[in-house]
Amino acid sequence: EPVENVVLHVADVQKNFGGLRALSDIDLQVEEGKTHAIIGPNGAGKSTLLNVIIGRIPPTSGAVIFDGTVLTGRAPHEINQLGISRVFQTPEIFPDLTVLQNVMVPAFAKRDGDFRVNMLRSVESEKEIREEAEHLLEDFGLIGRRDDHAGALSRGDKRRLELAMCLIQHPRLLLLDEPTAGMSRHDTNTTIALLKKIKERGMTKVIIEHDMHVVFSLADKISVLAQGRIIATGLPHEIKEDPRVQEAYLGG
Ligand code: ADP
Ligand code: MG
Repeated sequence: EPVENVVLHVADVQKNFGGLRALSDIDLQVEEGKTHAIIGPNGAGKSTLLNVIIGRIPPTSGAVIFDGTVLTGRAPHEINQLGISRVFQTPEIFPDLTVLQNVMVPAFAKRDGDFRVNMLRSVESEKEIREEAEHLLEDFGLIGRRDDHAGALSRGDKRRLELAMCLIQHPRLLLLDEPTAGMSRHDTNTTIALLKKIKERGMTKVIIEHDMHVVFSLADKISVLAQGRIIATGLPHEIKEDPRVQEAYLGG
């Protein structure tokens, strides 16, 4: 059935690593404003798919189209500037900068197209960005750590920091690779609540997730990836009941 208001289209993507076919015949359509989850067992190709979308890995064939613009062949920073931000499976923060500086850097990167630290370019914009960063840190329960080195944060706090680093970019599309991996149940629930808040703002999200509690709390639509292929796409209740999915993943 046709999908309406498609903002991201992964069109017939394949990816080979040498003799290994990591992604086959991937066709994924993500609707504006929705949270689309991608689930699947370890090694299914979920991170590879995300890396193809953000331009870190070139597909062997096929294309990624975002809001009518072909992303394939563009550099990761260009794709970021087009409105796509991402949280990786392993947090990528600047450990030697303070928590506050970490949140400010991506705002400058989006504006200037430069991911190197270049914070004193304009005093006025620094003030604006600093204030927004402080608001985000308040929302994320990290304001008390604003002047600490980010490297000193706990794993859960680092993941929340990374999410704040994405949100300050006001992305149209947010990609999350296992945002609750390694978190306690309490931290997981806090993160689900934060992600629900983001949903209220109408931001489109693609979320890769292992934790079924997280997936069924957040997803509007779910695609199941197994051995590099999408074996099912549907509403959460459809996916829950699909015998192929149970065999490939939920039961296994
Ligand atoms: P998932 O995120 O679903 O666990 P990945 O996308 O990380 O899966 O990996 C999919 C497959 O591709 C795995 O077999 C993995 O070993 C392989 N793979 C991933 N990245 C590379 C790479 N850079 N070089 C070679 N093989 C890779
Ligand atoms: Mg992965």
